[in-house]
Amino acid sequence: MRRGPNESKRVLVTGGAGFLGSHLCDRLIAQGHDVICADNLFTGDKRNVAHLLAHPNFEFLRHDVTLPLFVEVDEIWNLACPASPVHYQHDPVATTKTSVHGAINMLGLAKRVGARIFQASTSEVYGDPQVHPQREDYWGHVNPIGLRSCYDEGKRCAETLFFDYHRQHRVEIKVARIFNTYGPRMHPNDGRVVSNFIVQALRGDPITIYGEGRQTRSFCYVDDLIDGFLALMASPADFTGPVNLGNPGEFTIRELADQVIALTGSRSRIEFRPLPSDDPTQRQPDIALARERLGWQPKVALAQGLERTIAYFDALLAGRATR
Ligand code: NAD
Ligand code: UDP
Repeated sequence: MRRGPNESKRVLVTGGAGFLGSHLCDRLIAQGHDVICADNLFTGDKRNVAHLLAHPNFEFLRHDVTLPLFVEVDEIWNLACPASPVHYQHDPVATTKTSVHGAINMLGLAKRVGARIFQASTSEVYGDPQVHPQREDYWGHVNPIGLRSCYDEGKRCAETLFFDYHRQHRVEIKVARIFNTYGPRMHPNDGRVVSNFIVQALRGDPITIYGEGRQTRSFCYVDDLIDGFLALMASPADFTGPVNLGNPGEFTIRELADQVIALTGSRSRIEFRPLPSDDPTQRQPDIALARERLGWQPKVALAQGLERTIAYFDALLAGRATR
């Protein structure tokens, strides 16, 4: 039987040693839940959860979600998947397997133990969008055979599996479409734009803008996103999503570079590099659905979130921070 909202639950977080997963584990532990963090450490790092290892409610399991797992839990948060283009393109076949086989294994587990299951989907399901801002009813504009397809199509197929398990087996699902999120515990060599620019600025290295920097993204601070995760998981069973979670503030990559340079006081120069193939030209979430159904919206402005993230990387690079 499903436990009440205030009762302690047994919870599985796949990808729990990654950037978002480790913040989620922190919040679940703080709420008094029993957390199993399953991660193969492909892009995650045990140091992200090192502070939790001695906690009696926390357990780390080195596990690859492409293989079946059996644990008795009330909730599953499926976050396992490399998220940075550099990492997911490193072994594209493994990326598709992680999304698709991982979804099948976790949905099978949810069905078997009667757990509610959350999927970390992505704005990438909209591809290079021709509708702006993106609403959940937009089906997207995705190249099925390009360099980003292993991630985009893997995540789209995972969404299909979630809705088919829901319709066919009545599994309780919650699908979040996450837009670019940043913050402390991103890997310094992650390759994503916010961590790249901050690390480059702090080291005085050139800031690498791909293309002319006119492409846009909307950046959400991690604490806001995790609030959205928790609101979605706690929402009534009939609300499945998909629901956009992100910050609607939209910036060009050039504007982001300028903000990072200003906030770090860096002397780094800007270096333009070729634009990767299929790089989306624009991206901005329409969050009306999340506002209405979850009462959620982000609170942290880009400059504020960047300051906190810069402080984290500054300490990390100086060897003062724990990850
Ligand atoms: P991340 O790379 O820091 O975390 C992913 C975690 O999954 C890592 O700890 C990694 O080791 C683990 N992992 C990868 N393959 C695995 C496998 N086969 N088995 C077990 N563990 C595996 O990235 P993140 O930003 O924390 O992303 C977490 C989730 O959120 C991902 O599913 C990602 O697609 C999704 N997402 C993130 C963003 C964002 O902006 N951060 C945007 C959209 C979607
Ligand atoms: N980008 C960039 N310089 C970098 C890293 C990324 O200009 O060092 C650009 C990238 O081409 C894209 C945007 O920043 O247009 C966001 O890239 P990221 O990899 O963070 O995520 P995406 O939204 O593309 O998945």
